[in-house]
Amino acid sequence: MPASRINPVKIVPLGGLGEIGLNLLVLECARHAIIIDAGVMFPEERGLGLGRLLPDVSYLEHSKAQLDAIILTHAHEDHIGALPYLLRKSPAPVYGTDVTLAFVRRALSEEGPVGADLRPLSPGTEVLAGPFSIEPVRVTHSTPDSVALAIRTPAGLIVHSGDFKIDPAPVDGVHFDTERFARLGEEGVALLLSDSTNAELEGHSGSESSLKPVLTSLMRRTRRRFFLSSFSSHLHRIRQLAEVAHETGRYVVPLGRRMAESVRLGMETGQLNLPPGTFIERAEAEFLEPRRLAFLASGSQGEPRSALAKLATDTQPLVRIEEGDVVVLSSRFIPGNERTIHAVINSLYKRGAEVLYEPMAPVHVSGHARREELNELIRLVRPRYFVPIHGEYRHLALHRALAIKSGIAERNCFLLEDGDTLVMNAGEIRRGNSVSAGRLVEDGEELGDPSLIRERRALAQEGTVIAIVAVSTRTGKIVAGPHLLARGVVSGDGTSSHLTRARSELVERLQVLDEYRRSDGAQIRDEMVRALRRYFSNSIGKRPMIVPYVMEV
Ligand SMILES: [Zn+2]
Ligand SMILES: [Zn+2]
Repeated sequence: MPASRINPVKIVPLGGLGEIGLNLLVLECARHAIIIDAGVMFPEERGLGLGRLLPDVSYLEHSKAQLDAIILTHAHEDHIGALPYLLRKSPAPVYGTDVTLAFVRRALSEEGPVGADLRPLSPGTEVLAGPFSIEPVRVTHSTPDSVALAIRTPAGLIVHSGDFKIDPAPVDGVHFDTERFARLGEEGVALLLSDSTNAELEGHSGSESSLKPVLTSLMRRTRRRFFLSSFSSHLHRIRQLAEVAHETGRYVVPLGRRMAESVRLGMETGQLNLPPGTFIERAEAEFLEPRRLAFLASGSQGEPRSALAKLATDTQPLVRIEEGDVVVLSSRFIPGNERTIHAVINSLYKRGAEVLYEPMAPVHVSGHARREELNELIRLVRPRYFVPIHGEYRHLALHRALAIKSGIAERNCFLLEDGDTLVMNAGEIRRGNSVSAGRLVEDGEELGDPSLIRERRALAQEGTVIAIVAVSTRTGKIVAGPHLLARGVVSGDGTSSHLTRARSELVERLQVLDEYRRSDGAQIRDEMVRALRRYFSNSIGKRPMIVPYVMEV
């Protein structure tokens, strides 16, 4: 069959290429589509009072393809968090491994009634969806039951790494399936899409299980209570903490609803197989000696309402930090969160705790492959084409350079951002037309577009000036005002004098307008914005948000 008769496959990333988080990739062929992952992201500016960011999937409405399946690689929020939203927009069967589906059920129940057809995914068993056949391949990562995907399409074989590292000693004994990747490589892989999160870091990320001796020695040396803070989805870490606690004679107390839920999901899925009685409720902890207790607290990113933040501000019911307690922050500080995390650490110190975190103590191991492991995956899979995914632009650029260095032809390594597309035809890949991609932002129950972020930022940084004027539409005369109100522009004392001067400049400018223009509300509003912008920019070097209001009488 000539190449043109074979259905091409379109590769459309709508999130995760240009940022860490928000992962969502669409594959299309012959009017059918599948989606890999549907993740969220947390805004860097927490101070703006906005919620999570979600990938804009309006592209799916424009593309007329039928969505046959949503395939999830693992249980992290940046891969499943947008699923309830996606299912409301584009319902389709959802495939995930046991642990992933356990977390998906929780996410779906938290976001109100969202109907979902959940189907099992397990390594070695292929799933058919339209013209695609999807085979999960076992990888190691910071959450158990994570998979990569080998996707057979009419235009060639695609391997999607998911999030991965190559852990030589996984906590659950379930290994990265080197052999399967090598066999896929022999079969002939057209395209590899691979996790770029740690593409800046040389070497090997190290084994998750290397933390166990560290936790053991810390727990043995302290006579007081032990607190460990990590992501609540980090079941490997929770398991290690619980094992060490059990071995050193401590009971484990999960703090906060989400952490307690994770422990329950971990036990339900067999990931936390510990002797009965290892986990106890916080009410039971009251009567136990400090050296018999280990607490699990979410909030390692300094999240304001988390268990750790409540410990820091002494607002946690029944549990308080006391002199000599040890608190371990077992996670990477996500850029943008440092200030809030440091504030939490300062408060914990004030309460007398000893606080340990990276890099002062080796209390965290990343779940993402570093350069040696990235190289190893490329060597195993030997793809003809390569696209770095899951990363900010610099991670993607470095990962692409690494792929070229490891022998993939430079013209076959594409650097894509969200909305850039590729078209694969009989094993050949070229760039396609870009499609619309972007972010939505949660604001309470509502979803807003990025202008909401821009407006909040402007309000937070520059303040706002409201200007009100009444004009006669008949004569063009100013009947009342202008009245000015300012918030967050200058501090209290200066406000009235600045507003008086701004007002007289504004009056002058409005007077200069001829009567015809003064009887047109839109023209007056423009002039008000221009005049006030100029005043505040010249007088105090600020650009407050100007809100003009013209009453036409
Ligand atoms: Zn992950
Ligand atoms: Zn991820």
